[in-house]
Amino acid sequence: MERTDIVGKQFPPVAPPVPPPLPGPATPIYHRLGLMINESPLRGHCCVSTSTRNLWDALFDGGYRADVAVYTDNGGVIFAHANILGMASPILKGLLKQSTGLGRRKSISIRGVPRDAVRVFIRFLYSSCYEKEEMREFVLHLLVLSQVYVVPQLKRLCEQQLEQGLLTLENVVDVFQLSLLCNAPRLSLMCHRMMLQDFKAVSSTEGWKVMKKSHPVLEKELQLSVIEEENGKKARIRKLDEQKIYLELYEAMEALVHICRDGCRTIGPHDKDLKENQTPCKYTACKGIESLVRHFNGCRLRVPGGCIHCKRMWQLLELHSRLCADSNNCRVPLCGNFREKIRKQNKKDEMKWKILVKKVLRTKRIGGGPFFLSGNSSF
Ligand SMILES: [Zn+2]
Ligand SMILES: [Zn+2]
Ligand SMILES: [Zn+2]
Repeated sequence: MERTDIVGKQFPPVAPPVPPPLPGPATPIYHRLGLMINESPLRGHCCVSTSTRNLWDALFDGGYRADVAVYTDNGGVIFAHANILGMASPILKGLLKQSTGLGRRKSISIRGVPRDAVRVFIRFLYSSCYEKEEMREFVLHLLVLSQVYVVPQLKRLCEQQLEQGLLTLENVVDVFQLSLLCNAPRLSLMCHRMMLQDFKAVSSTEGWKVMKKSHPVLEKELQLSVIEEENGKKARIRKLDEQKIYLELYEAMEALVHICRDGCRTIGPHDKDLKENQTPCKYTACKGIESLVRHFNGCRLRVPGGCIHCKRMWQLLELHSRLCADSNNCRVPLCGNFREKIRKQNKKDEMKWKILVKKVLRTKRIGGGPFFLSGNSSF
């Protein structure tokens, strides 16, 4: 029989005997993974047509002319066919070669996992079928078996089942360790992410306690990555806060020009009182800047380093002067007067101002706005 690869062309030597595919609905995600699944509520999940699937299942269930006895833990025996096991798994093929059985029947042992997990594993080698419930119960065992006996299509299936819902806070530590052992990088990444997201819950599970004892180094590494993640989060928050400050400064700059150039219609010209029942001005900082300008005009301590409000006003005026694209036609007070001060400024202070200006201009990528310098300008 010519082999038709519907379980993935990459693994022709270890693919189970596969009958030709039948047309039928297939779930796109399985397509991508190289598996096609005809959902059937009666006989579980499988990648071949119903009749063929039933035939292979019947062969396994009935054990017709079975020539291998597979011994499991707790005295279990599962009968199977050497040609199928050998074709499905290169490791089983090797074991069968070495096996010396009674008469024509060979025997091998698969131990360390429950008998039923071995049965589900072998059934999959026949028909690529599994019952949903059994998959849920034995997915970790099946992952190990697929790795040990080199059955990549089952390994892929187990990874996919875990990724799509069987991974839980309870089993994530076990799955993580298995994914490292079984070389399943995508799955280990997902586990890692899940552990970081809910570290408190995960670190109180039984699995974590066991890992702490059996793999203390791994446990330490995970603790470290949690700390790194926390630090990263803090840095991101710091950066956001910083951006917020620069954005506010930018808005203050806009409002300052708007007030001095247009006079704000909402709050009235600078020498009139604020109007109560006006719609808000489109410049968010307008009201705040306006009252600051009002204070500045009236304050007796109007010197740099005088009162806190005036100090702020001086800073805003200086920042404006450094941002202003056209000092000659600008109506912001003292816009041109800072030039002299800027020339005399010491290098350290000057550098601070330059960085501030750059950051403010970059907040909105406002380069070339109507009254500010380009964001890319070098000062
Ligand atoms: Zn306004
Ligand atoms: Zn003042
Ligand atoms: Zn100006």
